Amino acid sequence: MAAPLYLVVLGKQGAGKGTQCDRLSALYEIPHVSTGDMLRAAVKADSELGREVASVLEAGALVSDDLVVRLVDERFTQADAVGGALLDGFPRNLAQAEALEALLGAGGVSLCVSLEVPLELVAVRLSSRRVCRDCGTIYSERDPSAVSGVCAKCGGVVEQRADDRPEAIRRRLETYERDTAPLLDFYRSRGVLVSVNGDQSPDDVTRDIVAAISERGVA
Ligand code: ADP
Repeated sequence: MAAPLYLVVLGKQGAGKGTQCDRLSALYEIPHVSTGDMLRAAVKADSELGREVASVLEAGALVSDDLVVRLVDERFTQADAVGGALLDGFPRNLAQAEALEALLGAGGVSLCVSLEVPLELVAVRLSSRRVCRDCGTIYSERDPSAVSGVCAKCGGVVEQRADDRPEAIRRRLETYERDTAPLLDFYRSRGVLVSVNGDQSPDDVTRDIVAAISERGVA
């Protein structure tokens, strides 16, 4: 069997990580593991974990390293993750990157893709983003589903994420620069970093990522 493919996707909020991970998940048949989606699902389900993290998420702050590391560790034990995973939103700081290395072993991360987008663009993308509360499909504010508030895919409610409001956006982007941007050096030092221009059509971004993956021979 081929070695598992663990892909870390880094990029500012609104860089297109979720969109690309959904596509890559279908292409490489490995699950899209988004810690943000997992935490939002817990809030929606009103589980004990959800109640613990709800206010942190709404403010755009980070939940504890310990908690997300446990969440990811548990997710890796599920049957669909034997071939690896696409990591979106994790790791988010050096402590989490080190925890991931401890979980997978040295060399466990096959590739780290950095989606590069200018700050002005992500601010616009985030404030116009609308999301289906039920199936998670992302729409832009002018899409008919966003205008009507009814998801074209599942009939669920389409709304703005609580943390896509200006104050929370500012806070999330600051946290990204301070805590997450240093991971670029971390993965560069491991020899697994590739940069991809995220300011192009989703198809072109996917094409560039797939090219980088096959160039490196990791899948
Ligand atoms: P974004 O990257 O656009 O902020 P996500 O969906 O990845 O959105 O995450 C939403 C929120 O979930 C974050 O603002 C944070 O509160 C929490 N979160 C997600 N992943 C992590 C993580 N790895 N460590 C700590 N908090 C996290």
